[in-house]
Amino acid sequence: MSSAKQIVKKLLQAYPEPEIELNHSNALELLVATILSAQCTDQRVNEVTRELFKKYRKAEDYARANQAEFEKEIKPTGFYKNKARQIISCCKDLVERFGGRVPDNLDDLVTLSGVGRKTANLVLGVAFKKPAIAVDTHVQRVSRRLGLTQEEKPDKIEQDLMKKIPKDKWTDFTLAMILHGRRVCKARRPLCKECVLYKECQWEGKEK
Ligand code: SF4
Repeated sequence: MSSAKQIVKKLLQAYPEPEIELNHSNALELLVATILSAQCTDQRVNEVTRELFKKYRKAEDYARANQAEFEKEIKPTGFYKNKARQIISCCKDLVERFGGRVPDNLDDLVTLSGVGRKTANLVLGVAFKKPAIAVDTHVQRVSRRLGLTQEEKPDKIEQDLMKKIPKDKWTDFTLAMILHGRRVCKARRPLCKECVLYKECQWEGKEK
C-alpha cells in the first residue's frame, strides 16, 4: 500500500465519518459560516450563527442586509467589516446570477465574491457531497509534515493531494486532516507521541 493510502486508512480509522465543526443546515449557511470562520474559532462562529441564521434565511436576506447592522451582528468573529462586505456581496452575486441558490460546482462557486478555492471546496464536499479537497491552514501544515507535498501554496498542495488521495476519500480526508491538525498535529507543539501517523510522518521536527 502506498504511503498516501496508508495515511488515509489510518486517518479515517482515527476519525471515522469526520464532520465539519461549523453548525449549518444547508449550503448557504455553510458558505456564510465558512466566510465567518476566517481567523476565528468554530465555536465562536457557531455562537454567532445561532442567532444570525434565525434572522437571515435566504441569500436575498443577506443581499438586502444593512451593512452597519450586519457588522454588529457578526462582530464577535473578528474582521467583521471585511466579512460583512464579503457575505453581503457574495449573496448579491447569488441572487443576481444564480437565482439565490448556492451553485454546486467549483467553477461557479469561485466566481462568487469573497469565495476562494478553500471555501468553495468545503461547500462542495460537505454540503453537496461531491469529492473535494479543501486546503485550509491545518490541511496545509499536516500535509507538508507528512510529506504528502513539498509545496507551500494551497492551490499547488491541492493539486498534489488530488493526485495522491483516492478521489472517493477527498472530502473525508480533508475533514479528518482538519480534526487531526486541531487536536494532535497542532501548529505549535504537535502531540507526536499520540499521533496515529507517527510512522508515516516525514517531518524532521517531529517529537523523537
Ligand atoms: S508525528 Fe507529529 S508532526 Fe507528524 S503528523 Fe503526527 S503530530 Fe504531526
